[in-house]
Amino acid sequence: MIFDFKEIPQANGGGGMQDTFELFARDFFQNLGYEILQHPDRGADGKKNLIIQETRTGVSGTTKIKWLVSCKHYAYSGRSVSDTDEPNIVDRVITHQCDGFIGFYSTLPATSLGANLQGLKNRLQIQSFDHESIEQILLDSPNGLKLSSRYFPVSYKNYTNENPKPAKIFAEEPSICCEYCEKDLLETKSGIFVTLRKRTDYTAENPIRHPYQEAYFSCKGTCDHVLKNKYLQLDDFIDEWVDIPDYLYPVGFIKKLMAWLNSINIHNERLEKNAFDKFKKLLLNAYPHISREQTSEEKEKVKYYLESGFDEYL
Ligand SMILES: [Zn+2]
Repeated sequence: MIFDFKEIPQANGGGGMQDTFELFARDFFQNLGYEILQHPDRGADGKKNLIIQETRTGVSGTTKIKWLVSCKHYAYSGRSVSDTDEPNIVDRVITHQCDGFIGFYSTLPATSLGANLQGLKNRLQIQSFDHESIEQILLDSPNGLKLSSRYFPVSYKNYTNENPKPAKIFAEEPSICCEYCEKDLLETKSGIFVTLRKRTDYTAENPIRHPYQEAYFSCKGTCDHVLKNKYLQLDDFIDEWVDIPDYLYPVGFIKKLMAWLNSINIHNERLEKNAFDKFKKLLLNAYPHISREQTSEEKEKVKYYLESGFDEYL
């Protein structure tokens, strides 16, 4: 489970305070497009009833369905919702002039209740949501994620740390496309950055390296073969390549950048305009991906770098 339902406070015993789990249910259904007919305030009978309306559009026009929502927040005890927790379902639906019943639970319905609900399906419209289906729906849309940040702030933060999205830094979304098939390599977190320079017969007596003259972004495999042939026709180039994903996590980015800076300083490496522009494009478009905290997996990688002498790059 990604969301810890215990982040939603336990139902209040009284005091006129609205219960957070019911408010969450209200916002959850509003988010799904239901209209809220009755908010979960305490009614005259002391019971809180959330009533929502669904509008179904079909070929023969629109149908409105009124749902009575029953919220049970048992995440603290962890127990499932049993048939005795949900007595007289048909009567309750009829009393509130509804067409259907929704069970909205922070745990699971017990087998007894599940069988009960199944049995009622020929008399009423029935839906049931448990912690897993609620979580799935929240994860499914940007609005769902926004809602979860309000009701599950800790779980949400952990989730976004582990599933990073590029930071909003530039007006345009970062992208680096394969120069052959035009696939966005940042979206798929794949591909290579290939740099090309003239062949040098490199010896100790002749330590001159030619500057990098051209560069391209490419998928691995076929696209790379095609592009390489195209560039090799220009000159007697040799190619070097790096994995683009190595630039897309914080420590990988800084490690690669330091390696480039060191090679400029120590080996007098140079990039000519075409290659330099593409290298800048790589850094600029990778930057929003690394302006963030590290995931647990990345933290493990750092440990590995430190053990294998990462500091030599700095
Ligand atoms: Zn490609």
